Amino acid sequence: MSDASAIGDGIFQITVPMSHNPLGSTLVYAMESPGGLILVDAGWDGDEGWDGLTSGLESVGHSVSEIEGVVLTHFHPDHTGLCGRVREASGAWIAMHQADHDMFEKMSSGRGQEWMDFQLSNLERAGAPLADREAFEKSAQGDPPVGPESAPDRILVDDEIIGLTGRGLRAVFTPGHTPGHVCFYLEDADVMFTGDHVLQKTTPHVGNFVYPLEERDALAEFMESLRRVQKMDVTRGLGAHGLPIVDVAGRAGELIEHHEERLDHLYGEFADDEITVWQVAQRMKWYRPWDQFHPMAKGMALSEAAAHLRHLVARGQVAEVPGTEPARFARS
Ligand SMILES: [Zn+2]
Ligand SMILES: [Zn+2]
Repeated sequence: MSDASAIGDGIFQITVPMSHNPLGSTLVYAMESPGGLILVDAGWDGDEGWDGLTSGLESVGHSVSEIEGVVLTHFHPDHTGLCGRVREASGAWIAMHQADHDMFEKMSSGRGQEWMDFQLSNLERAGAPLADREAFEKSAQGDPPVGPESAPDRILVDDEIIGLTGRGLRAVFTPGHTPGHVCFYLEDADVMFTGDHVLQKTTPHVGNFVYPLEERDALAEFMESLRRVQKMDVTRGLGAHGLPIVDVAGRAGELIEHHEERLDHLYGEFADDEITVWQVAQRMKWYRPWDQFHPMAKGMALSEAAAHLRHLVARGQVAEVPGTEPARFARS
């Protein structure tokens, strides 16, 4: 069963399923180019996704063998997974931003025991209790592979134009969700492919992954990239998951507001206490009680909490308490 259609402006939308993932699918977009087809993202690796992609393209009168290149919004496996298989089938080039290319290399080389040891000491530095570290170790076994076997072969530069038939697709660097996230702007149709940077219904995940305090301020990057997109005054957005975005600038504004509210709320939760990164995560508002989170979901929530904490530190509202281990933070 394929789910693909021509959605106007010479854009084909193909739903690439991933039934094991709560998101359900990745939306892949295809447009005609001088060399055949350009794909925006590729979907999760595996036979289920591959069948969705190949039959989807066929149902709109194209085939995988026509793909000239794949431009990737970011390195996450629900976007990059199938691109190795696409390259094998078509000889297509694969392109992504340098910063995500680096992440990608780090992630693909860093599995196994070494990775697990790092994660466990990382969780300890965040102040995670032993029971939670053990639960993480147990549930992280058998993690899915990240992306294709071999690395992408072309680096995308901000503002670069990817050639389509009679028009171009502009790369718009939008770090935040990942360090090298890129949106693609189809200028002649005023449509932006937003990847996971702006989504209509869900709030994209933004995290800092090294505890207690990473140098990178992911939330600052993300909000800056939202402002960039807001200023471009784009009308229609096509994200990688869920519904089309009717007003990209408006939605970007909502997402900024959402994070400002979470920052305010977190600052309030500090009161007069000195708390670890783990306790920061426990005090933030989530869509379900903290105790009911799956260990892997706790890990994702922890990274999101760390990003908000990092940004409060950057704003000078909160600071690390000297000499504490695991590190504790308090209002400054
Ligand atoms: Zn993502
Ligand atoms: Zn995604």
